[in-house]
This record gives sequence, structure tokens and C-alpha cells, in this order.
Amino acid sequence: YKTVRLILGDQLNPSHSWFKHKDNDTLYLIAELKQETNYVKHHIQKLCAFFSAMANFASALKEAGFNVLHLTLDETHGDANLPGLLTRIATQYNCSAIEYQYPDEFRLKQQLNNFKKKSVFNINAVDTEHFLLQFEQINERFTKNKHATMEHFYRAMRKQYNILMDGAKPQGGKWNYDSNNRNKFSKSDLADIPVPKMFDNDVSSIISRLNKHNVSYFGEIKDELLQWPTTRKQAIDCLEYFCKNLLSRFGQFQDAMTDQCNHNTSLYHSRLSFALNAKLLHPLYVIKRVINEYEQNPQQITISQVEGFTRQILGWREYVRAIYWVNMPDYANKNQLDAKQKMPHYFWNGDTKMNCLSHALTQSLETAYAHHIQRLMVIGNFCLLTGINPNEVDNWYLGVYIDAIEWVEMPNTRGMSQFADDGIIATKPYSASGNYINKMSDYCKNCRYDVKQKIGDNACPLNSLYWHFMDKHRDKLQSNPRIGMVYKNWDKQSSNLQTQTLEQAKHHIKNIDSL
Ligand code: FAD
Ligand code: SF4
Repeated sequence: YKTVRLILGDQLNPSHSWFKHKDNDTLYLIAELKQETNYVKHHIQKLCAFFSAMANFASALKEAGFNVLHLTLDETHGDANLPGLLTRIATQYNCSAIEYQYPDEFRLKQQLNNFKKKSVFNINAVDTEHFLLQFEQINERFTKNKHATMEHFYRAMRKQYNILMDGAKPQGGKWNYDSNNRNKFSKSDLADIPVPKMFDNDVSSIISRLNKHNVSYFGEIKDELLQWPTTRKQAIDCLEYFCKNLLSRFGQFQDAMTDQCNHNTSLYHSRLSFALNAKLLHPLYVIKRVINEYEQNPQQITISQVEGFTRQILGWREYVRAIYWVNMPDYANKNQLDAKQKMPHYFWNGDTKMNCLSHALTQSLETAYAHHIQRLMVIGNFCLLTGINPNEVDNWYLGVYIDAIEWVEMPNTRGMSQFADDGIIATKPYSASGNYINKMSDYCKNCRYDVKQKIGDNACPLNSLYWHFMDKHRDKLQSNPRIGMVYKNWDKQSSNLQTQTLEQAKHHIKNIDSL
């Protein structure tokens, strides 16, 4: 071979122009590597999903007639790192050139850049051809350390790609239907939630390998059958299932939470994030398919469902990636609220008396999945209010979720949910008392704490923690016109109640492990 082409675990994009032509001079390398298993402690489902998707992609390429070298941990355990592996393989196969697609993670991009500078091989990098905002445009549209409004970016992307547009105007007359999308489940709604699309991917051989090579992980896979889509066909099945069964109520229940739906923990969400992030599916393909379903079924599917979904992929997903690249590597150290608290033990077993947190944590640990509001307003809000160190919060999110890759995990976690990024993403923190959780879920009904009480042994801890957080960061927050009213309410409370509330919160923070 003349050239080795590296395919990383999140670059399983069958439509890449690399695969437009076959030639006998090119060897495609797909390899399980120890360095990708241990940069943080991962959930076993996440490790298996990537390794399984890589093996399937390698088989599909082979079947299509490409020369593929798929290496498992059994063959790569002696390679110290990715440059070591590339050097070994290029030498072994007498290649003079190495090519790779730009990684989406800073860590890998830097590692490969350094390799490129020092290596004796002729090394060339190309675009992944996956994202809708071109990499070169990120610096034109975003400025380092400067707030960028998602909504402005999203509207520009809608225009650029002519998505849900009537000429220059948004379809339906509005850009944003969020206000239609804040429903809570009633009892009868719960009974209607369909079962999710799940798969039975046998990952027993991957689990044996992880154990054989002492990869440290947490979590379980029931019967060694992974339920996430790990081929392009399964990913498309998942998308089709979403269009036919879930889309019609996606927006409506986008923010709703419940502990009463054991048959479907992802509710009306699509479960497509892993397939998208591994690049099994292209974002435009997903958006177009969903809009096509809406156009075919305008009676069943309203614009607010489709707009809500499109906003997540065309808006948020592209936006957080741009925030990541324009601000790295400094972004990874941001901690504007100086949060230092250690993460409590129940993040590893769900064992807390707070029902909302216990449910969201247990579900995350069992399924490697939680939907956006569970991540933001339950787990993230708790970490924000109690001041958990954002490095620990980042590592936990990066390890636990099936879709967690740093470019998308970090801006969402450190930025949006922990407000640690100097306001680059959010102009105000997503902080909430128990009232918000009670409005969007049925968690409080089954909780040992009382969501209506602020102080006392039975009071919902989030209530005092919320006011403690707002009081502690008053200097930073009160000039924000969107928060002014909150402080007016606080100032109306008697000083006795204020003192008791703050004392209660301090007690909780001090004894965080026993909440
Ligand atoms: P759906 O609700 O069906 O949404 C459809 C798609 O939209 C998702 O698959 C995803 O690709 C995209 N999307 C939705 N919201 C976002 C968002 N805020 N940012 C980027 N893309 C979005 N998403 C990840 O892919 N990886 C992460 O590591 C990740 N970490 C998060 C951490 C926090 C604190 C928060 C608040 C959100 C995080 N998200 C992350 C975004 C979102 O929670 C997940 O994408 C979503 O829950 C995945 O489930 P789904 O595919 O069923 O999503
Ligand atoms: Fe969560 Fe408070 Fe409701 Fe309990 S009462 S579920 S702690 S919000």
C-alpha cells in the first residue's frame, strides 16, 4: 500500500468522499485503542457502542471492496498511543503517506498535529464532511470568549440551508415554537407513550476483550445485548421509527419528565445522538427526513414538533461545536463561579433521597441515557446549586452518556448547565428551585421531601439551595435584567426566613453526601 487512512471511532461516515473511489494503494485502518478507553472512566455501553459500530463499519467497507485493517485491543495493546500505532502500521505495510480526517476533539487534534510535525511520513488531513457549519467558517461567525446567541445562529442556518422557510420568512410565521412545547404528562399521556426502538447487538466478545485488557469502566449491559444502533441500517431504522411513532409529540413533551414510564425512559426523544455523533447519520439527512414526514402528514404532525427537532440539530448541535472550537483549549479550564465542591457518592449509584435526582441518576447509570432536561435541569441544576467542581461534572457527563464526545459534552455541561464559561453560551444560569421540577414532572409526588417547603427537615433541598446560590452570586447576577425580579422576591422575605433558608442550604452543602 502507498497510503494508510485512519478512521476514528466517531468517523463512521459512509458518505465521505474517501469512499467514492476504490484503489489498491490505500489501506483503511480502524482500531480499538487503549488510549480511547481511559482518558476518562466510561460507561460500558459507551465503550461497546463505539467498538461495535467500528467493527460493523469495517465489515461494511470490506464488503464494499475496500482494503480494511480492523484491529482490536488484542492487536493494539502494545501500542503506546495513536501515533505509535500509525507509525507501526505504516512501516509494516511499507506506506509512505498517512491520511486522517480532522478529529472533533481537541485532545486528538493536538496529538495528530504534533505527530504530523515530527513524523517521517507524508501526513495529510481532510475534512470529515459531516457538519453543516464548515470548520473554516467557525472563526468568521464566532469570537473567542464572546457570548454568541444560539437563536441568531440558528436563524442564519435555517436561511442558509433553506430549512422550514417560506422565501425569506420562517414557515408558519414563527422562528421558534418553544412556548407550545412545555407540556407535562397527564396519566393518559403516559399510557400512550410507545416503546422505544431498541436493538439486540451481541457485544459479549467486546466485553471479554475489555476485561482481558483491564479496561476500567462502570455500568452494565443486560444479557450482553447492546440496545443502541451500531450500524447505519439500525440508525436509519431508529430514525424511521422516530418519524412514524414519536415525532408527532416530540416538541409537545420535549421538556417533560416522569418516573412512571418504565417501558420507555427516552419518552418521545429520538435516541439518535450516538448515531449522529459517530457519523453513521448525516445531520442534514435526519433533518430532511423529519421534514418530509411532516409534509406528508400535516394532520398528525404540527410545525412546532418539527421546528423543535430541527432547532436541536441545525441549531444547538452546530452551535455548541462552534463554541467548543473557537474557545478551546481555555474553555476546559473555565470556572467563573469558582465551584470547588466534591461530587457526592450517589452520582455513582443513584442512592439519594431526592427523587428527581435519584431517578435521573439511576436512569443514566443503567441506560447511559438521559434526555436534555434531565441532564440540564435535574442533574446539572443540582451540581450548579451545590457548586460541584466543573472538572468533576465534565468527567462524569463525558463518562456516562452514550453520546458524550467532548466537543458536544463540554459546552453543554460546563457552559450551559454549570454557567462556568463566563457567559459565552448562556447570559444567565439555568438555576431552578423545586418548583420547576414539579411543573415539568411527577417526581415530587413520590419524593420524601416536600416541594412546597423551603425550610425544615422535610423541605425540598433545591428550594434553599436555589436561594443560597442566587444570594451567593448576587454581585455577578443582579445587574442582569432577566434576573432582577428574582432578587425583588428574595428581598421581600423576612430577614429571619432569609437567614434560616441560607443556613439550611449551608447545612445541605456541608452534608451533601447524606441528601
Ligand atoms: P433528541 O431530544 O431526540 O434530540 C435530537 C438530536 O438533537 C440529538 O440526538 C442531538 O444530536 C441534538 N441535540 C439536542 N440537544 C442538543 C444540544 N444541547 N447540543 C447538541 N446537540 C443537541 N448531546 C450529545 O450528543 N452529547 C453529549 O455529551 C451531551 N451532553 C449534554 C450535557 C448536558 C448538561 C446537556 C444539558 C445536554 C447534553 N447533550 C449532549 C444534548 C442532549 O441532551 C442530547 O443530545 C440528547 O439528550 C440526546 O438524546 P436524543 O438523541 O434522544 O435527543
Ligand atoms: Fe426533587 Fe424537591 Fe421534587 Fe423531591 S421535592 S422530587 S427533591 S424537586
